[in-house]
Amino acid sequence: EAMGPEHRGRVIAHFGRTLEVEGMEEEAVAGKRFRCHQRANLESLVTGDIVSWRELKDGLGVVVGRFDRHSTLERPDARGILKPVAANIDRILIVVAVEPVPFANLIDRYLVAAEATGITPALVINKTDLPADPELDTLKARYQRLGYDVLPASVRQQHGLDVLREALKDLTTVFVGQSGVGKSSLINTLLPSEDIRVGALSEDSRKGTHTTTTARLYHFPAGGDLIDSPGIREFGLGHLTEQQVTDGFVEFRPFLGHCRFRDCMHREEPGCALREAVAEGKIDLARFESYQRIVHSLTAS
Ligand code: GDP
Ligand code: ZN
Repeated sequence: EAMGPEHRGRVIAHFGRTLEVEGMEEEAVAGKRFRCHQRANLESLVTGDIVSWRELKDGLGVVVGRFDRHSTLERPDARGILKPVAANIDRILIVVAVEPVPFANLIDRYLVAAEATGITPALVINKTDLPADPELDTLKARYQRLGYDVLPASVRQQHGLDVLREALKDLTTVFVGQSGVGKSSLINTLLPSEDIRVGALSEDSRKGTHTTTTARLYHFPAGGDLIDSPGIREFGLGHLTEQQVTDGFVEFRPFLGHCRFRDCMHREEPGCALREAVAEGKIDLARFESYQRIVHSLTAS
């Protein structure tokens, strides 16, 4: 079959080996959506991938290559094997709320999981319209001290949403967090138009297909992209290794490698640089205890 010139595009949805690709850069295709199939010699592509593709005819194309991913979000499949579900994500927004109140170290677990992907995490504290919880204010200050962005919001009162919209610009974001914190409400507010959420092409390809399991890319009207799926929203509470947990506490990093014993587990060993940093107030005791609880939960389960 005759093929047109090579274009650059981004995978905004996929249904097996059929991909919905949005043209990037060149004027002729920019912003337009094409149904493409994937060359058999390519490993599985995921939403968010940047690809090169050639037009066949009438909005159909074939993907011939993939550009390097700068980040990958992985989830375990049914057999527990990690599989990429989305690519080229710039930020993980961890949504928490006054209600359901986050149990101790839940936020730390999410942060550790995010740090393990290399994608920058930030916190959204939703439902600020509910009576203030002093514990949540403590948490907010703690994470800001660590250098994380903390964005308060209320979907109900439409507070904090402009700051959030501004923070989403120019980035590809995923929203994660426990059930009930308001992820759907936030996303529905930030993506008001159904047209933006469901492209014309996908309507076709969706017939007879359950799309709820695969990720989709959406454009926020004020700029920036969202990649979303039920599986992505559940990201963060899967298995972690002890090394990932240790590395995921960003303020520990200057002290790691300075313990007396090279294989220090930072428990009772003498000369533990982490414990000394806690004693000297250089590491927040609450975070260190949270670290210990998370490590303990790894060995207990
Ligand atoms: P999800 O499970 O994280 O997607 O959470 P939902 O978006 O389904 O919201 C869970 C509940 O929280 C719903 O009853 C929402 O109406 C409520 N909710 C969402 N945002 C707010 C908010 O800003 N303030 C209050 N008070 N409730 C909210
Ligand atoms: Zn140590």
